[in-house]
Amino acid sequence: MSSNSHLWQIPKVELPESHLSKLQNNLEERLTIISSQFSDVRFATSLAAEDMAVTDGIAKSAKSIHIFTLFTGRLHAETVEMKKTVESHYGLSIDAVEPQAQDIQAFIAQHGLNGFYDSEEAKKNCCYVRKVKPLELSLNGADAWITGLRRSQSVTRNELAFQELDEVRGIPKFNPIFDWTDDELWAYLAWQKVPLHPLHQKGYPSIGCEPCTRAIRADDDLRAGRWWWLNKESKECGLHLK
Ligand code: SF4
Repeated sequence: MSSNSHLWQIPKVELPESHLSKLQNNLEERLTIISSQFSDVRFATSLAAEDMAVTDGIAKSAKSIHIFTLFTGRLHAETVEMKKTVESHYGLSIDAVEPQAQDIQAFIAQHGLNGFYDSEEAKKNCCYVRKVKPLELSLNGADAWITGLRRSQSVTRNELAFQELDEVRGIPKFNPIFDWTDDELWAYLAWQKVPLHPLHQKGYPSIGCEPCTRAIRADDDLRAGRWWWLNKESKECGLHLK
């Protein structure tokens, strides 16, 4: 990136208060319905923008939903700090889930610490041991889970629905902001003064592990900074694949 002025920036959008209230009511209604229908609901947050909108809704309407985040061991320092910021802002607790040490040792022995740059197989393995397996363990016993996915985030998500069946785990998976546009997301976050991950101010619309995420230009696809060396169809870590 040659100049910060060309980097993606947080959209400064103003929407009518009535529209934002409707979004908020809708989000809280969806979360209330989920938490009233299922006794053990869990939400996996990355602490980035979409997940902060969902967290805001949970904190205001469905505090029984258990929130956790995957501490992969390769996160930015800002992400680790963001967890504390969110906990203190909302007075809630976020469970930090770490990968198993023996899995990481086996990955490093086979591929090297940063072997994910060298082959798609190594990338899949790294995401499996640092994200997918810890997610599976975290969802063990849950009745349903929640994500902050949106249709307009990526070509791989344009058929997303509010409720889906997580075929891997055999439980419902809910996407309560699946139909929000980019403008609605950022306007809602500003309107509710939701704490934002500091990397959003540095050109990152999407935030994952440090070695696999970078800032993007204003005219890039929103997921362009994730695994930028791979093609679009491979830009998922396996958490949400069917
Ligand atoms: Fe590994 Fe990168 Fe996947 Fe993180 S995003 S788990 S560092 S391959």
